[in-house]
Amino acid sequence: EDGSTKEYVLIFNKNNTTIVDQYGLLQVVGNKIVDKNNNPISLAGNSFFWSNNGWGGSDFYKASVVSWLKIDWNTTIVRAAMGVEESGGYLESSGSNINRVKTIVDAAIDEGLYVIIDWHTHHAEDYTSESVAFFEEMATLYGDYDNVIYEIYNEPLDVSWDAVIKPYAETIIGAIRAIDSDNIIVVGTPEWSQRVDLAAANPITTYDNIAYTLHFYSVHHTQWLRDRASAALNSGIALFATEWGVLGYTQNDPEAEKWMEWCSDNDISHCSWAVNDKEEEWSIVKPNSNSNGSWNDSELTDAGKLTRSCLLYTSPSPRD
Ligand code: MG
Repeated sequence: EDGSTKEYVLIFNKNNTTIVDQYGLLQVVGNKIVDKNNNPISLAGNSFFWSNNGWGGSDFYKASVVSWLKIDWNTTIVRAAMGVEESGGYLESSGSNINRVKTIVDAAIDEGLYVIIDWHTHHAEDYTSESVAFFEEMATLYGDYDNVIYEIYNEPLDVSWDAVIKPYAETIIGAIRAIDSDNIIVVGTPEWSQRVDLAAANPITTYDNIAYTLHFYSVHHTQWLRDRASAALNSGIALFATEWGVLGYTQNDPEAEKWMEWCSDNDISHCSWAVNDKEEEWSIVKPNSNSNGSWNDSELTDAGKLTRSCLLYTSPSPRD
C-alpha cells in the first residue's frame, strides 16, 4: 500500500539529498517552527523509549534502527530519551546512557534526519546541575549541527510553571546558549506536558528559538486538549509534540486521525512513543522483535502499524 512512498525514498536517496540538507537549521518564528527559508515545517517521526540500563528499550538504541525508520517509515525526526533519576539512568550510569543517546544523534546526523536530545524525567528541577552538565556536553558536541533540537524537560508533574519550571528552563537555556546560540530548545509544560496554556500565559522572553512541549495520548486526550493547544498557539507560542501515543491494541483510532489532522493544519511536528517491544499498548513492535530494525509486518503491533501509516502520510515531501 506504500509502494509509491518507497519509490520516492529511493529517488530521494539517489540524489543524495537529505531532509536536513533541504530544510536546514530550524527556527521559531512567532508560533511556527520554520525551515531555513522561513517556511513552516511539520516533521513526523519516532521517539525511542527510556535509555535506562536494563529497561529493554535500550536495546533499540542502534544506528540500524534509525536507518530503518527513515527508509521504511519515512521518519524525518527521531528522539533519544535520556532517562535521568530512575534505576539504570544517567545519575546511576551516565556513560552508558550518554553512549546510547550519542548513538542515536550520530546516526541521525549520518542519515540527515532531525534529532531531539531529551532529558527524560518527571523531576528535572531536582537535578538542575546534572542537567546543565549534560546539555553543556551535548551543545559542545552537537551545537553546530542543523539536525539537533534540545528538549530540556520531558514531562513535569503538577508543579508550578511560574515558580519552578520556567526558572529551571531559563537556567538550562542559559547554559546551552553560552555554547550554542541558535538550535531550537523545547521546554516541557506542567501536568505531563499538557498545560501549554500556563506556558502561553507567561512565556520565556529572554531567549529566542524556544518552543513548548505538548504531549497527547489519544486514549486520554481529545478535543479539549486540541482546543487548549490551539488557544496557546493563538496567543503566540510555538508547540512541539515530542511524544504522542495511539489508542493501542487496535488500528481503529479515530482520535489519532483527528490529532494528525490538527498537527497538519497547525504545522506541528510530532514523535510517536515509542520504539520498543515491551508489552504495552504504545510499543511499535511486539515482544522479542528484531532490535536491529528491519521489521516485517508481523512484528509490528497495531500501534506500530497505525503509527507507520501516519508517518508515511504526514512526513513532508522532499519534492515540495
Ligand atoms: Mg547551533
